[in-house]
Amino acid sequence: MTTFVDFKAVKAAVTMLQVLEHYGFAESFKRTGNSLSGPCPLHNGQNRTQFRVSLEKNCWNCFGTCNGGGNILDFVARKEGCTLREAALKLCDWFQLPTQEKSQRPEKDVSESPKTDAPPKAERPTKTAKPKRPDTDEDGPNKPLGFELQHLDAEHPYLLERGLSAETIAEFSIGHCSKGSMTGRIVVPIHNADGQLVAYAGRWPGAPPDEDTPKYKLPPGFRKAQEVFNLHRAMREPHDTPLYIVEGFFDAIWLWQHGIRRVVALMGSTLSPVQAALIQRIVTPDDRIVVMFDEDDAGRAGREKAVHRLSLHCFVRTHQFAQEGQQPDALTGEQIATLLT
Ligand SMILES: [Zn+2]
Repeated sequence: MTTFVDFKAVKAAVTMLQVLEHYGFAESFKRTGNSLSGPCPLHNGQNRTQFRVSLEKNCWNCFGTCNGGGNILDFVARKEGCTLREAALKLCDWFQLPTQEKSQRPEKDVSESPKTDAPPKAERPTKTAKPKRPDTDEDGPNKPLGFELQHLDAEHPYLLERGLSAETIAEFSIGHCSKGSMTGRIVVPIHNADGQLVAYAGRWPGAPPDEDTPKYKLPPGFRKAQEVFNLHRAMREPHDTPLYIVEGFFDAIWLWQHGIRRVVALMGSTLSPVQAALIQRIVTPDDRIVVMFDEDDAGRAGREKAVHRLSLHCFVRTHQFAQEGQQPDALTGEQIATLLT
């Protein structure tokens, strides 16, 4: 039985950069304008500019030993030593694109309900195909929650102390929780890229009472490296302002309240490969990104890596704070306003 594979759809769904990232080559590439350059992964070249990728045309060229180029299928076929057809099937597998044989209904598997023996679902090939992660429990997508916490106190003193407005509290549906595992915490709903609720984070209001009480609590099994906080809202914002990337929930919420609506949080100072891929989906090569992490050792280390990774996709700069320990949620409204001008 032959599996039908649509070459054109595969070429439209996957970018050359995603292919380089899949192989782990992207790290050694640099971006200039609309092209990437790096050492040739096909002939294992040492010359750091010999291999060029046009982001616009989604094609590559080696000006060294290979002396030639092509599209993503040509690249994978040469890298794997296989036919174009086999290369296309591999790409379908890596990036979860449908092939005729296994396509049931083109439905996103991230919206899957917690059925256990459902057949594998295929994803419609779009420009925003998600790179496939290994199928292990630690690495899979978070399942939609299927319930919402009720009776949250939206007027808890801690929220008012932080200066959050009623509009902000309502938009982010945050509030103090008095039932269940998040009792006594301010809960912040976390959504996936499709806007489905996947978890609640719980922040202790103020300084935790003892060492055993963490400032932040996430549900067991929740994989924060698979999500980008506020992505589903930020993706709807116009691209004429930069996308701000911050570390924490309250950094993002605070900037949002002060007019920076195109803001997302990584829930830490590390940009995971999945988070990078999710952010890549909502930016174009002409976009601007501002990485605004906390001014501390973890923040500085994290932002260096994040900038390097994201600068392959668009224009990226960092916001550095003058004082050690400063972070976005401590900026005054006035200071944020100057960022917007
Ligand atoms: Zn080459």
